[in-house]
Amino acid sequence: MIEINDVSKWYGQFAVLTDCSTHVREGEVVVVCGPSGSGKSTLIKTVNALAPIQRGSITVNGIQVCDPKTDLPKLRSRVGMVFQHFELFPHLSVMENLVLAQVQVLKRSRAEAVERGLRMLDRVGLSTHKDKFPGQLSGGQQQRVAIARALSMDPIVMLFDEPTSALDPEMVGEVLDVMVKLAREGMTMMVVTHEMGFARQVSDRVIFMDQGRIVEDCSSDEFFGRPESRAPRAQDFLSKIL
Ligand code: ADP
Ligand code: MG
Repeated sequence: MIEINDVSKWYGQFAVLTDCSTHVREGEVVVVCGPSGSGKSTLIKTVNALAPIQRGSITVNGIQVCDPKTDLPKLRSRVGMVFQHFELFPHLSVMENLVLAQVQVLKRSRAEAVERGLRMLDRVGLSTHKDKFPGQLSGGQQQRVAIARALSMDPIVMLFDEPTSALDPEMVGEVLDVMVKLAREGMTMMVVTHEMGFARQVSDRVIFMDQGRIVEDCSSDEFFGRPESRAPRAQDFLSKIL
């Protein structure tokens, strides 16, 4: 579903990604972890062309992300993205947040968008909050709305960039629960997170990044089950966060 081949990216002289290759199969959940500044956010942003690359190639469901002929708004509409800071429109109600892109990008009728929106809000347990504004919700609820908004676009993959790291600890669980459910329902997911409990529970593979390189890319069982075979940097990192 996602193919990342020999991707490199620079900011001026600074190599933010160096020769990164990996893939995500349909229905697979891949967790990306690593120290701050190692390029995790940049890597997942390359998948929907939010971060342009200078070398290599990326395809999503066969679509060439870096081909200038690719319709990027259309591609992005099928690649759901959830950020650390929920990025909901503060002046729009929960429902209007869900309806907007469905109508503007997917050209759905308002009625259809509302119906789809309600179903997705129900999926994250928030249908009774549809008329509230983001500011009236807790952080955990706002993040669940952000997930529902992404889902209402019928994404073929979902990208998450540290979706729980801006939340108060008591709200982390409700967001992870939604993500676990999504994973179990077969969604293809690429998730930057330091929630190793989540990684162990639902991920199929774990990628560990350091200084813009993928230094570990293995099955979750291998990553958590055979600590002695991990790259020393990954070992060191895990010993600090576990
Ligand atoms: P992570 O998500 O792993 O913390 P990022 O992908 O955000 O890492 O960033 C990787 C590196 O690239 C960091 O050193 C960061 O400072 C640098 N970086 C990110 N965005 C830019 C930018 N727009 N211009 C210059 N450097 C950047
Ligand atoms: Mg980041």
